[in-house]
Amino acid sequence: MTTIFEDRLHRSQNALAEQGVDALVLFPSPNLYYLTGFEEEPAERHLLAFVTPEDFAIVAPTMYAGQIMEETFIDHVDDWDDGEDPMAVVEDVLDRLDVSGGEVLLDDRMFALFSLDLQEALPEASFGLASEVLDDLRITKDETELEALREAGRISDEACVAVRELGADAVGLTEAELVEEIRAEIESRGGEGFSFDPIVGSGPHGAQPHYRHGDREIRAGEPVILDFGTRYDGYPGDQTRTVVFDGEPPAEFEEIHAVVHDALDAAVEAVEPGVTAGSIDDAARSVIEEAGYGEQFLHRTGHGLGLEVHEEPYIVSGNDTVLEPGMVHSIEPGIYLEGEYGARIEDIVVVTEDGCERLNDSPRTWEPL
Ligand code: ZN
Ligand code: ZN
Repeated sequence: MTTIFEDRLHRSQNALAEQGVDALVLFPSPNLYYLTGFEEEPAERHLLAFVTPEDFAIVAPTMYAGQIMEETFIDHVDDWDDGEDPMAVVEDVLDRLDVSGGEVLLDDRMFALFSLDLQEALPEASFGLASEVLDDLRITKDETELEALREAGRISDEACVAVRELGADAVGLTEAELVEEIRAEIESRGGEGFSFDPIVGSGPHGAQPHYRHGDREIRAGEPVILDFGTRYDGYPGDQTRTVVFDGEPPAEFEEIHAVVHDALDAAVEAVEPGVTAGSIDDAARSVIEEAGYGEQFLHRTGHGLGLEVHEEPYIVSGNDTVLEPGMVHSIEPGIYLEGEYGARIEDIVVVTEDGCERLNDSPRTWEPL
């Protein structure tokens, strides 16, 4: 039985053949994991996988060889010991795979160090980015990936509800303390930590869309942006709710929150196969513009989600990528009043045959639960 990874490797080889690409060279990255199941942090030693339309090889330090063969379908590693010249091994592999020039695509995340080595080893080749081939494969999720994304969404939602239930008890906690509360809720539900550095933006901090968290104390009556997710089976969740833990929010906040909620719903309603990613941004943005807050919507409407928290398709004005069933992306409109507060609501959706499936479903209201 072939594994899901071998199947992906074969599909990538077919895509290389179809596009006339001679070789793909990967580095520890989500691309390498996607095709082999091998996960490792990028580092200074030469660890490079070579994919050609017909063949596959991996060059790695000897100390990784056993691990690679145990964790993946790969049954041979061209290894090198510390003190040896890894490029001599790379050159042998290039000879064996008959790669001497043509079109070679390098992992988008490859360090310049290795890119330059490969350019020197292949002076006749023309170079491009691996995403030219792999984005088209990775953008559509298979059922295994969707199951992991659903579970990550479910755990993230439950953790969000649990911290919102703190109500008045959250008042006086610092943003960083609330992050630890969220972490505990995630981990008690089997989540694999945070999928990205979480955002707890209280009051004026919420007006900075990419603020993370700090030592400011949460106060009664102020909006707090909760943007976080966990990972499950390697796949991330990502959701945002803007909440008031206790007391009365500023008068204009209720209206702003309602506009953001309407923008979210309008964009969700617009998602279906055959429409462009850009049109989803337009759907959210037009609601906010009509309400007079266009200038305060400071970012694109969303991003794709898969092995990476931000990937294709980007839900941004002018993106003519056509949505297809199995694509997964966020919808996260927001309005930000500098120096006062912000409001953002974010759900992840999967494009289906006739619309979309929402992967987040915790209450989108701001009131205490
Ligand atoms: Zn988010
Ligand atoms: Zn997001």
